[in-house]
Amino acid sequence: MSNDANSPRLVYLDHHATTPLDPRVLTAMMPFLTDQYANPSSAHHFGRQAQRCLREARKSVQHALAASHESEIIFTSGATEANTLAIIGAVAGRQWPDEGHIVTTAIEHHSVHAACDQLKKQGYSVTTVGVDSEGLVHPEDIAAVMTPHITVVSVMLANNEIGTIQPIASLADVVTRHGALFHVDAVQGAGALPLNVDELGVDLLTISAHKIYGPKGVGALYVRRGTQIHAQFSGTQEYGLRAGTTNLAGIVGLATALRIAIEERTLEAHRVSGLRNKLEHGLLAAIPDARLNGSARHRLPGNLSLTIPGIDATDVIQALPDIALSAGSACTTGTSKPSHVLSAIGLSPSEARATVRIGVGRWTSERDVDLAKRRIAEVVSELR
Ligand code: PMP
Repeated sequence: MSNDANSPRLVYLDHHATTPLDPRVLTAMMPFLTDQYANPSSAHHFGRQAQRCLREARKSVQHALAASHESEIIFTSGATEANTLAIIGAVAGRQWPDEGHIVTTAIEHHSVHAACDQLKKQGYSVTTVGVDSEGLVHPEDIAAVMTPHITVVSVMLANNEIGTIQPIASLADVVTRHGALFHVDAVQGAGALPLNVDELGVDLLTISAHKIYGPKGVGALYVRRGTQIHAQFSGTQEYGLRAGTTNLAGIVGLATALRIAIEERTLEAHRVSGLRNKLEHGLLAAIPDARLNGSARHRLPGNLSLTIPGIDATDVIQALPDIALSAGSACTTGTSKPSHVLSAIGLSPSEARATVRIGVGRWTSERDVDLAKRRIAEVVSELR
C-alpha cells in the first residue's frame, strides 16, 4: 500500500490492526536477514556475535520499559503468545494450590479471553469485570472482586477498538494490595504512552512490534524479577520461559521500533491527535447523528470510533476501496457477532454493526484526513 503519482491515492487508517514497517526499523533488521544469520545459541564466533546483538536488543527493551534487569524481558512470537504465557504461565506457576482464580475485564483482546477460557475449561474460576460507558475499568470494581485466591489480574493499557486508556497505576494499587499478580496488555498503548513498569506498577506486561511500526511475528513479555511463571513450551532460550530458535531480526526490529516510538512519542502524539481531532470534527459535522465511542479524555491519540446509525460498517468499508478502515477489530472480521467491546460499553448489536474504527498513524497526512473525511461522508449519504 503505497502512493505513486499515477494511481488513485490510498489512505491507510487502520493502525490499530497493524502498522507499516518503519524504514529505519528495516535498516536495523537487514543484517540479520542477510549476512548475520547465525543462531545466538551457537557456540562458534558467529553465534557469539549474534548473542551479543540479542543482548543489546534485550537491554534496549529493558531501558525502554525502565525494567531493572535484562532477564525480565522475554521475547515471544507476538502479543498473543505473551498474553497466553502471562496468564496461563502465572496460574501454572502459582505457589498455593487453592489459588488459581483469574480476574479480567469485558473489553480485553481475544487472546486474553481465550487464555481465560482455556483455564476455565480446566476448572479454574474467571471473573470478568465490566466497564463504564466510556470503556473505563474502575479500581473499586476490581477491589470488589478481589479474594485471597486470585493469582493474576489482567487489564489492558489501551483498547484496540475504542482507544480508552485505563488508570493502570490505580488498578495496580488495588491488585498488589491483595497479593495478586498484575498483567497489562500494553500492545495498543506502547507507541503512545509512557511504559515505565514501576510507575505502572505491573508484574507482567505485553508488547508487540507490529503495532509500533516494527515487524509482525515478534513481541515481548516483561516478567518482574521474582514472579513465578511456567513456560508454555520449555527449553533453554529466553531464560527457560520460551523455547525456539531466536528470531534475532524480529527482536532487533522490536527493540528499534520501541526506541523510535519513545524518542518521538510526545511530538507524534500531538501531531496524530491533531489529525484525529480534525477528522472527528469534520465527520461529526458532516454526519450529524454520528456518535463518538470511548472516552473523549482518556483516549489513544490516533483512535476514532464512530457509530453512524442506519448504516452497516462493512458496507462503508466495501464502498471505499481507496481507504482502509475497520469495523470492530480486525481479529473479529468474518464473524457476524457484534464486537464484545462495543457490547460492553452498552451498544446494541445494530449500533455495534454501525460502528467504524479509524486509526491515524505515523505517515497519515493532512491531505489523507481531508480525503477520508470527504469520501466517508459521501459514501454514508449514498448508503442512506
Ligand atoms: N492485544 C491487543 C490489545 C491487540 O490489539 C493485539 C493485536 N490485535 C494483540 C494483543 C495480539 O497481538 P499479536 O498480533 O502480536 O499477537
